[in-house]
Amino acid sequence: NRQLTLASRPVGAPTVNDFALHETAIPTPQSGEVLLRTVFLSLDPYMRGRMSDAKSYADPVAIGQPMVGGTVSRVHASHHPDFQVGDWVLSYSGWQDYALSNGEGLIKLDPTQVPPSYALGVLGMPGFTAYMGLLDIGKPQPGETIVVAAATGAVGSMVAQIGKLKGAKVVAIAGGTDKCSYARDNLGVDACLDHKADDFAEQLAKACPDGIDVYFESVGGKVLDAVLPLLNTGARIPVCGLISQYNATALPDGPDRLGQLMGSILVKRMTVKGFIIFDDYAHRYNEFAQDMSQWLNEGKIHYREQIVDELDQATQAFIGLLQGENFGKLVIRVGDD
Ligand code: NDP
Repeated sequence: NRQLTLASRPVGAPTVNDFALHETAIPTPQSGEVLLRTVFLSLDPYMRGRMSDAKSYADPVAIGQPMVGGTVSRVHASHHPDFQVGDWVLSYSGWQDYALSNGEGLIKLDPTQVPPSYALGVLGMPGFTAYMGLLDIGKPQPGETIVVAAATGAVGSMVAQIGKLKGAKVVAIAGGTDKCSYARDNLGVDACLDHKADDFAEQLAKACPDGIDVYFESVGGKVLDAVLPLLNTGARIPVCGLISQYNATALPDGPDRLGQLMGSILVKRMTVKGFIIFDDYAHRYNEFAQDMSQWLNEGKIHYREQIVDELDQATQAFIGLLQGENFGKLVIRVGDD
């Protein structure tokens, strides 16, 4: 049983030395337990937070323990009445080949409907995040302008497409020309801008001649700086993530603009609301699952996964995720299905 554990708490960007690969015996399920074989492991930006012991909404991973993470797994052995060998389940087995479970929290998946790995993306946590953040906090109206960054990623690609389904104008932001072409051709956005361009702020202003009504915040930093002056009165900002800050060790250089930001919030009567998807919206999961499954069946949602083979590649893939190297929802294929 291979396990990738947390070896040390990173200062700044994580490195391969912050993780360790261990071999342990495959555990044996006792009465009431199942042994799960990990098939797919989801890699997500929140895992950077779990590597740190700074106070947060969830406990950190302890040094020496396997990294946490959502998985799509198969029942390898069962001493539990509700699970048969071969069943597909959504689990939280973490970065390892095998895990024991008493069945609590496991969700059975039907692999004949959609590829089982979709439960980690479009039909799972990232899709749910996009759906609730955009619709419950962003509340886009037809004809309004939505700006979303990391727009080809797991969450952003769904925000962009749900925004279009709701009749809004969607201005996407992504890193590089390939990602931007993809967003225009496959996600149906009205414009896509490369945040690495020197004149990014000018491009954004030009792409949003009527200002910005909804800014789906996932990155912070320079993107937020460019968005702020363009926000309209009554703008809504679902604060979903701040990925450009996750590896930061100090405040950025430059003048303190907090007063300016608060002034804009006041004068423009903006709504700025953070949310943690399952803590805040678990009770509305069915609403999302119903809509998203229907859109997917009707071919209204395009979904791109980046599947990387082998558990030992998770470390490098995760480090890359925090630097924009992924293209689509990042998933590790840990075992054969
Ligand atoms: P993605 O698949 O979008 O991957 C991360 C992307 O972030 C990268 O591909 C890159 O895209 C972009 N990025 C990385 N660094 C920077 C930077 N410095 N400036 C601008 N963009 C950057 O990840 P997810 O869709 O899984 O997550 C997106 C966001 O949503 C994250 O902030 C995450 O923490 C948050 N989130 C929050 C949840 C909640 O409950 N609040 C739940 C799930 C996710 P590009 O190359 O296009 O710049």
